[in-house]
Amino acid sequence: MHELGMCEGLVDLVRQQADGRRVTGLRVRIGARHAVVGEAFDHAFALAAEGSAAEGAALDLVVTPVTVDCGACGHQSESVDVLAVCARCGDDDVDVRGGDELVLESVQFKDGSALESDRFEEEADVPRDPR
Ligand SMILES: [Zn+2]
Repeated sequence: MHELGMCEGLVDLVRQQADGRRVTGLRVRIGARHAVVGEAFDHAFALAAEGSAAEGAALDLVVTPVTVDCGACGHQSESVDVLAVCARCGDDDVDVRGGDELVLESVQFKDGSALESDRFEEEADVPRDPR
């Protein structure tokens, strides 16, 4: 349930930005390497947000792909599966890069204002090789 740790970090960031305002929605960009399950993430967020300004806020989760470099044929592809194989030859001798970001992209407040930013990137603790 590593989703909960990430969500607690996110709620912290949201709280800092909210400055007492009620949060109605937020958009989070997350790398495929985190391998989060949307539903589990929703639950974890609801749990982490309980009692905070973000309680009940709508969560929009955007998964960004990893880059897959094939060691067999040299083909480069993208995938949202960290255990990806080469999209061309199917070899699993691949180097998976990127997809490890966790970014709070935007926050909407009840008063109608919104924040759009890439500034709130969280340093995520991700194992370099998920295999
Ligand atoms: Zn290949």
